[in-house]
Amino acid sequence: MVGPFNSSCPQGIQVAQLAWTYIHQVGYDPFSLEFPWRFERTPYTVLVSEILLKKTTASQVRSVFLDFIKKFPEPCILARSSEEELWHILRPLGLRRRIFELIRIASVLCEKFKGSVPCDWKALLSIPGIGPYIAGAVLSFACELRAPIVDTGIARFWVRYTAIPIRKRSSPHKDPVLWGCSFAYISAFPGPPSLGNYFLLDLSREKCVAKRPFCSLCPLARTCSWARNPVST
Ligand code: SF4
Repeated sequence: MVGPFNSSCPQGIQVAQLAWTYIHQVGYDPFSLEFPWRFERTPYTVLVSEILLKKTTASQVRSVFLDFIKKFPEPCILARSSEEELWHILRPLGLRRRIFELIRIASVLCEKFKGSVPCDWKALLSIPGIGPYIAGAVLSFACELRAPIVDTGIARFWVRYTAIPIRKRSSPHKDPVLWGCSFAYISAFPGPPSLGNYFLLDLSREKCVAKRPFCSLCPLARTCSWARNPVST
């Protein structure tokens, strides 16, 4: 079990079963050239990609990701690098403070974790700058552990699918009820955790989009509360 989550969300189990059926009967490929960080995943490459993807589009990150990993292939090399070396590659993404964050996290990994990224929920969250989403991404995408993820898109998906009233309307991606749904989902998903979480991430990004979701193209429409009774979310 990963993290202190309440998994009493029957819809999470239902979505896991429907997703698995869809993947087998229709097909789903999470490995597109659009996302180079999904190939040859290690805890370090996933961690770096998730930090770069914060407040930045995938196409922007795609333009620098492979150069970054080639130049800084492990945490201790990154920790010993100068801000200017990082900025030279990351300038197209903007957000200069991100380079301080990367160096700070790499320094902790180098000093406290022997230069590796731990496949452990508590250890990851003990590192300043790593929150539950990044921890869940590293654990599920690279370590293949059943760790949940909830970002803004996945939170929107769960709110629509379940119609569960949430407490944190201003920051639904932090709502413990929605984390419980993602945990129930990934715990019940019959395939590899990386596949399950990529499916959820891509569904919320491609079908359950913010303004007008593409319900007619969604494999979960038949059981989705929002599709049966649309409201503004
Ligand atoms: S049916 Fe529509 S609202 Fe429901 S999960 Fe799919 S895209 Fe989102």
